[in-house]
Amino acid sequence: MNIQNYINGNFHNPTNDDWIDNYNPSNGEVYGQIPNSTKEDVENAYIAAKSAFPSWSQTTLEERSRILIKISELLEENLQRFAEAESKDNGKPISLAKAVDIPRAASNFRFFGNAITQFASESHESIGLQAINYTLRQPIGVVGCISPWNLPLYLFTWKIAPAIAAGNCVVAKPSEVTPMTAYLLGEICNEAGLPKGVLNIVHGLGTTTGQAIIEHQDIKAISFTGGTATGAHIAKVAAPMFKKLSLELGGKNPNIIFADCDYEDMLSTTVRSSFANQGQICLCGSRIFVEASIYEKFKKDFVEKVKQLKVGHPSKDDTNIGALVSKPHLEKVKEYIAIAKDEHGSILCGGNEVTIEGFENGYYLEPTVIEVPNDDCRVNQEEIFGPVVTIMPFNSEDEVLQMANKVKYGLSATLWTNNLKRTMKMSNELQAGIVWVNTWMMRDLRTPFGGVKASGVGREGGFEALRFFTEAKNVCIKY
Ligand code: NAD
Repeated sequence: MNIQNYINGNFHNPTNDDWIDNYNPSNGEVYGQIPNSTKEDVENAYIAAKSAFPSWSQTTLEERSRILIKISELLEENLQRFAEAESKDNGKPISLAKAVDIPRAASNFRFFGNAITQFASESHESIGLQAINYTLRQPIGVVGCISPWNLPLYLFTWKIAPAIAAGNCVVAKPSEVTPMTAYLLGEICNEAGLPKGVLNIVHGLGTTTGQAIIEHQDIKAISFTGGTATGAHIAKVAAPMFKKLSLELGGKNPNIIFADCDYEDMLSTTVRSSFANQGQICLCGSRIFVEASIYEKFKKDFVEKVKQLKVGHPSKDDTNIGALVSKPHLEKVKEYIAIAKDEHGSILCGGNEVTIEGFENGYYLEPTVIEVPNDDCRVNQEEIFGPVVTIMPFNSEDEVLQMANKVKYGLSATLWTNNLKRTMKMSNELQAGIVWVNTWMMRDLRTPFGGVKASGVGREGGFEALRFFTEAKNVCIKY
């Protein structure tokens, strides 16, 4: 199936006729072609967005809201089709795409369709000076949205929905590894009555198409989710051009387990926070620290549960772990397992590729638990982004806090304890944008979302996203 660019409400081949193979991770086969769009395609998308902006930015909030909510409803009506496409493109179990990815993409549109009707700006009365200030929140113009492969439609729409709700027009690029659902979104937008040119989707490699977006003189803001190295590169290019930047980057999140936690709840959630989506979620708790008094019990129970996870074809209902997203990614994850062995880690379970009958060339890997001798090893410091977690014991709050914070990343942290004072102290001191206590990945879309340190700059979610996608202009009137 060939994918096309979605520009000005129509579908187009890339101008230079350059195509990239699209792989199905469950069987390793090429099942379609993706445009490798050039500067010219990005320019066409920009021109369409620029032409649509005057009218879209003046569209009433009620009308914008109605269209966004219609997109959300159409995604829900097409749940099965989108979930199948996401699973085929990414390798994730279809059950996950149906329960998480597509419903969340629909929620993104519904949420920002509602949020824009509640978004207000400030007013400051300068008492004694007989003046009043009010702040306008004006759309920026044409903005760029670039997203990764792990939660393809979920993260793509997490950017697009607030951008267009705020009155901007968009040039967006999904990951070239998982472009399918972004392609299908174009049809839905047309059906929902989104005016031509408000959203434009160009496909291609980061180094060609992505680069053309970030370098574009008149694309005034970039919302990016992806790896830390790519984020640094984008900042280097876009910051001197004074573009607004939101960077949601990598993570190496600690999952800290105290003996006083609700054990069963912690255990089942920890299996999920370790291996959901084959461990390819930026929020996965990939470093598990366990209080020494329950370490041996946890180790035995956790490994037993992980061994029960079924690695299988993504389309099967009983599959817990599908395929990794690509061959190069599988190789990268396997390399880290080899590094762990070199670093004297012990593989408690997993560590091997899995062959699924009939799909022998798919990218399957056992969920892997590695006991590490210390926190400084590479597998505890570098983002692996696959079905691999490390475990090690700790003896005190201070010790675990120090280890938790001793990475370059700071996206999220999970804490399992019933001790209130400890909860307050550790939540304050953990270097992360998000701290979950006695839960994981519980999301309220109104909350600020983002990381500190090498996990990024800026916050998405709720009004934070609407603030990012608008410029504040203060007007001071003396009376
Ligand atoms: P990536 O950085 O390789 O690619 C992300 C996107 O950037 C893709 O669309 C890619 O084509 C594009 N890109 C690459 N080079 C570019 C360039 N020079 N200019 C413009 N765009 C360019 O990341 P990935 O491998 O797709 O995704 C995995 C990473 O994403 C992991 O590090 C993960 O932690 C991170 N991630 C972060 C969050 C978060 O919210 N913080 C969420 C999901 C994933």
